[in-house]
Amino acid sequence: MRQFQFEYSDKTMLLRELQKINNWCRSHVYSHVVFYIFSETTDQTTIEEICRTIDEEMPYATYMGCSSNGNVLDGKLSPNPIGISCTIFEYASTKVKMLQYKLTNDTYLTAVNELKKEIETFGETKAIEMLLTIRGMSMTNFCKELSTIPENIEIFGGGAFNLNIDSNVACVFTKEKGYSNNSIAFLLMGGNDFYIDTRYITGWKPLGRPLRVTRSKGSTLYELDGRPAYETYYKYLNIKNDENFFTNTLEFPFLYRYNGIDILRAPIASNDDGSLEMTSDIEENVLAKIAYGDPWTILENIESESEKIRYFSPEIIHIYSCAARRTFWGNHESQNETQPLHAVAPTFGFFTSSEFLRTNGAVNQHNVTLVIASMREGEPFETERWADSYVPKTISGKISMVNRLATFIAAATDELDKANKQLELLARTDSLTQILNRGAIQSVISENLNNIGDTPLSLIMVDIDNFKRVNDIFGHNEGDNVIKALANILSRTAESISGKAYAGRWGGEEFMFAMVSNEDLLETAEKIRNEFSKINFDLAGNLTVSVGITVAKPGESVDTLYNRVDDALYTAKETGKNKTVRK
Ligand code: GH3
Ligand code: MG
Ligand code: MG
Repeated sequence: MRQFQFEYSDKTMLLRELQKINNWCRSHVYSHVVFYIFSETTDQTTIEEICRTIDEEMPYATYMGCSSNGNVLDGKLSPNPIGISCTIFEYASTKVKMLQYKLTNDTYLTAVNELKKEIETFGETKAIEMLLTIRGMSMTNFCKELSTIPENIEIFGGGAFNLNIDSNVACVFTKEKGYSNNSIAFLLMGGNDFYIDTRYITGWKPLGRPLRVTRSKGSTLYELDGRPAYETYYKYLNIKNDENFFTNTLEFPFLYRYNGIDILRAPIASNDDGSLEMTSDIEENVLAKIAYGDPWTILENIESESEKIRYFSPEIIHIYSCAARRTFWGNHESQNETQPLHAVAPTFGFFTSSEFLRTNGAVNQHNVTLVIASMREGEPFETERWADSYVPKTISGKISMVNRLATFIAAATDELDKANKQLELLARTDSLTQILNRGAIQSVISENLNNIGDTPLSLIMVDIDNFKRVNDIFGHNEGDNVIKALANILSRTAESISGKAYAGRWGGEEFMFAMVSNEDLLETAEKIRNEFSKINFDLAGNLTVSVGITVAKPGESVDTLYNRVDDALYTAKETGKNKTVRK
């Protein structure tokens, strides 16, 4: 594998570069020549002129390209609006195939189905690189569809963009179908001697507690924890809803787990209703944390990943980096995170509107992320490149203050979280019996009464018979033992029920058992009564309980439900105790 990278300024200069490549090809063995053209301009005439020149000078070559928010050439942001790289595959066994399909909400299914057919005829596909226009489309469904492609195939690529991040115009083009404003280009690569390693890096660190996405639609994020999403930025970061909103929030995108990996989404704009426009779809119900981009931490991540990539010993690296990262670093500093890669192998790519990568089977749409594809033909070789040309900056072990603070916040949040859970548990638990207290069992019953489904909600109310005598004759301690023994029976019964079941102490020697289950209610109550009556207490000997049972009626209130079960228990007491009465 070989690569030539150059900037495009005019046709004369392009002809000169093509001449060089032609000369190389004449004196070497190769199998395929693929040009990648990334352009800050979407101007069709300019792009078509480049394509035509390649067609004329190197008819045996193929090409793909798209518009971008800047290009990474030789591991640096290129000052020139158009960057070109020419990848030459040298092994006869390597196969490539270029495809292009229309990409809209109506056509993405067809595109993926056509791609699948091509994969079948292509044979041993190892990787699919893609360039695509993404505006006006929900990428979630498209990514799900792409994820159905045979699992062993790596899928990666970038969303076409525009130099002006507010513009919706982008283009994709290939030798196959030419220039288009809504298309996807695929490059199938495979063969025995072709090897690829793909990975993604964010470097962003999560801060603070998770917020649940309680309302979102596509890329509009309406509510976090039931509050307008914008409030989060104002409350935690004091970011105001003004013209600097985008730049200010860029350092603090949301980070959440999706398909088992970290996904970042940055807000692009805030709307009047307090909702946020995000860089792409954000799914309802995910737990998102605000994340912070710290240059030193990012660099640390990149350098350690670069080290791993070096073991793969790539011959070329393709990089799809989010346009937000270019803004985050600034034009001069953005090379900080691409130079370490270029120190491993020649690095070429562009700043995207989204980065795509398949991880653990699922194709994900990333934002604020670097997607890196390292490629090689043949067996790995020893590379000296890193040692020669690049001195890693983060090896000293110095950790930035922000990194330390982020760690501090994460640890403190974690401690608070644990303490809160402990408190919550304490507030719900009866201290003598360790089962639910009255408040807790009441709220469980109310919740289940509100979402009554097909399975009935039933109550069993239990009261110890003649309990006052136990206290009076054998003392309070024995009384407590009896109470604990009954609680124990109730909580074991709750565990044995298939469905939901809860045991609670209603007060004194009165208990409430609630279940949402198809188990026989009377049988369950009788089992409790019988089990209790069999206990032989040290001092008190054998005791009995009276039991009231009832099933909740659809739409009824908790009060009528409690009255009915209480009434049933009362009847049991009135008619001789040690029995179960149903009402
Ligand atoms: P009945 O058969 O009609 O239910 O009669 P009873 O004696 O069981 O009824 P009553 O409700 O009058 O008596 C309940 C007693 O339970 C009164 C109270 O002193 C006692 N008690 C309440 N809480 C506790 C407790 O936590 N520990 C002990 N040992 N006794 C308690
Ligand atoms: Mg009693
Ligand atoms: Mg009582």
